[in-house]
Amino acid sequence: MGRRPRGPGSPRGPGPPRPGPGLPPLLLMLALAAHGGCAAPAPRAEDLSLGVEWLSKFGYLPPADPATGQLQTQEELSKAITAMQQFGGLETTGILDEATLALMKTPRCSLPDLPLGAQSRRRRQTPLPTKWSKRNLSWRVRTFPRDSPLGRDTVRALMYYALKVWSDITPLNFHEVAGNMADIQIDFSKADHNDGYPFDGPGGTVAHAFFPGDHHTAGDTHFDDDEAWTFRSSDAHGMDLFAVAVHEFGHAIGLSHVAAPSSIMQPYYQGPVGDPLRYGLPYEDRVRVWQLYGVRESVSPTAQLDTPEPEEPPLLPEPPNNRSSTPPQKDVPHRCTAHFDAVAQIRGEAFFFKGKYFWRLTRDRHLVSLQPAQMHRFWRGLPLHLDSVDAVYERTSDHKIVFFKGPAVLAL
Ligand SMILES: [Zn+2]
Ligand SMILES: [Zn+2]
Repeated sequence: MGRRPRGPGSPRGPGPPRPGPGLPPLLLMLALAAHGGCAAPAPRAEDLSLGVEWLSKFGYLPPADPATGQLQTQEELSKAITAMQQFGGLETTGILDEATLALMKTPRCSLPDLPLGAQSRRRRQTPLPTKWSKRNLSWRVRTFPRDSPLGRDTVRALMYYALKVWSDITPLNFHEVAGNMADIQIDFSKADHNDGYPFDGPGGTVAHAFFPGDHHTAGDTHFDDDEAWTFRSSDAHGMDLFAVAVHEFGHAIGLSHVAAPSSIMQPYYQGPVGDPLRYGLPYEDRVRVWQLYGVRESVSPTAQLDTPEPEEPPLLPEPPNNRSSTPPQKDVPHRCTAHFDAVAQIRGEAFFFKGKYFWRLTRDRHLVSLQPAQMHRFWRGLPLHLDSVDAVYERTSDHKIVFFKGPAVLAL
């Protein structure tokens, strides 16, 4: 490991800064460690405090024992920082430098990074990851986000697709159910929600899930309801629900965190991962889940993901009133001035088509968005060059949506 030759805490150089009154001995040591012989300015007391708390929370340091008052040694702290830096892909300096503090402030999953028992002394009580012995798993969204632009159907559809990412390549099958018996109970909760992993408001920890097992919470997956959950949004401040859900469901089926930066199982939030209907797992994640469950019969280890869609996958709507400020495109028709190419009743909702766009009116007669959406982004399989339709209807025999354009007919 790239530890610095000059040991932290060596008594060379200018004396350590005078810490504020009441600074615990541990932080004093850290201040000394950070400053001793180094040109870099010593971290501020609150950064040191954050650093120690963070390292304990995510498995790099055993939590301080309030009963014995036993504290980490300077060497343990430096080791813990180095391990965190290595896991996060940073330069391994062993000190709380700016990059390290910035990574510690990055939104992330609540679960620890290092396997339990990796450190001496007391451990967190989190169980080691296991795997499911059954292959058919039920799921249910028990509570939905409270003040979110994402509707319930969108949340359910995103969960469906995030689980499908894993079942596409393994022999696992996920089924949505009603009632309290689901294997994977999904909740949107705030702050302390009685499971030992309290959420912390916007940012910080954003979600967690319980590993498989016999305990009643096994597989349960919780999202912090204080985050601004988004879908297909370019809003840099939101949390992409699909990306986080794919990661958490990885835990729910038994995967732990890895350091690989391209893995969906690395612990830090890295933004949206693209279209939920087309997302494929990175190679390292496929290999790890195959080690647990084997390969789904229809998939060869080298195949890209092109498994057929199930009969009726849920529709993923455009986000209502997308908060991003993308300028309106010139060829987008306005709903008040346009007359429509086609109108269709699809699954109880009314769709109005104009050019390559459509508006959607829900069952309770609300426009899903004032801005029209593009057809090919909504219906996977429509040709990209389709610039308008002549007629659309939902076929009653198989509930497929049938599009007419000139002599062409396409059922999706
Ligand atoms: Zn995680
Ligand atoms: Zn929880």
